[in-house]
Amino acid sequence: MKIAIIGVGSVGSAVATAVKNTGLVHEMVLFDRDGVRARAAAEDLGHAATFGFDVKITAVNNYRGIRGSDIVIIAAGANQKPGQTRTDLLQNNADVIRDIVPRVMDNVDAKNVVLILVTNPLDVMVMLAQSLSKLPPSRVIGTGTMLDTARLRTILSRNLSVSPQSVNAYVLGEHGDSSVINWTSATIGGLALDDFCRQTKNALPQTSRNTIEHRVRNAAYEIIRGRGATWDGIGAAVADLLRCIINDEHRVLTTSIVSGVGKDMVACSMPRIVGASGVVNTLIPKMSAAESSGLRRSAKIIQKNFANL
Ligand code: NAD
Repeated sequence: MKIAIIGVGSVGSAVATAVKNTGLVHEMVLFDRDGVRARAAAEDLGHAATFGFDVKITAVNNYRGIRGSDIVIIAAGANQKPGQTRTDLLQNNADVIRDIVPRVMDNVDAKNVVLILVTNPLDVMVMLAQSLSKLPPSRVIGTGTMLDTARLRTILSRNLSVSPQSVNAYVLGEHGDSSVINWTSATIGGLALDDFCRQTKNALPQTSRNTIEHRVRNAAYEIIRGRGATWDGIGAAVADLLRCIINDEHRVLTTSIVSGVGKDMVACSMPRIVGASGVVNTLIPKMSAAESSGLRRSAKIIQKNFANL
């Protein structure tokens, strides 16, 4: 399994480390428009690899070097500076995707390749990459709200003293400020959230839910304030998505692909079954009226941003 990572800044490097540590990849090539940075990352990661799985890691200085890649991960582009929203990156990062995707497509097998998008604003970049690549939407996959979902599960698990792995709750819609917490379908250990709270004598009143929503949506802003950027969470999310694809696991992940939301074709996150050929199915969870309208609003925001390109 050969993987290419385009963009080897904070996120691309964390992705490379997390992917290397899955042990599922035999070759990883790194490309960045800053060739010195890519070479340095490949050196450092190559040294790290001697302590773990044997992965051949090289920097390439042109797109021919990605030939033979089964999966291409795009993590290039500007990141948020303190106070910036993801949407503030729109025009700049659209140019980055316009630069990268055609060159990637000239050097991969379009019949099989899977593109994984990480660059923000994520959902709009998925729409752009899908239209530029002309690949089926099922093989142009954004990490979407995988990270937001992980944040929700972590916060809920700490509030309710249960492992995050037993929490089944999803964040839907935009990977951004209009994301929607799907409380209605949340379960823990097979119990609806309210039943779990009743049985375990936990209280989760509306005020706590509002606080949790705020913390989930603002997690990236807090991390950026504290350490300048976010990278570990997204690195782990990409590696998890990759594992699901490589092992054809058919796990349900909140990924973003271009699909129908109501009458609109838009990329946003829903629980989707992911396997070797990419997204194989999309699930529509139960939603309250407020969650449904929140999802439609989120889709409209993404679509409007795409139209502004
Ligand atoms: P960074 O500035 O550390 O690195 C970006 C890298 O992209 C740089 O090395 C730069 O040289 C490279 N680059 C820029 N344009 C390029 C081009 N045209 N071709 C090749 N390489 C190019 O930024 P970062 O912190 O690594 O963030 C990267 C992206 O990931 C940002 O858009 C950020 O917002 C996004 N991100 C997404 C999530 C998510 O959940 N999807 C989470 C965190 C960050």
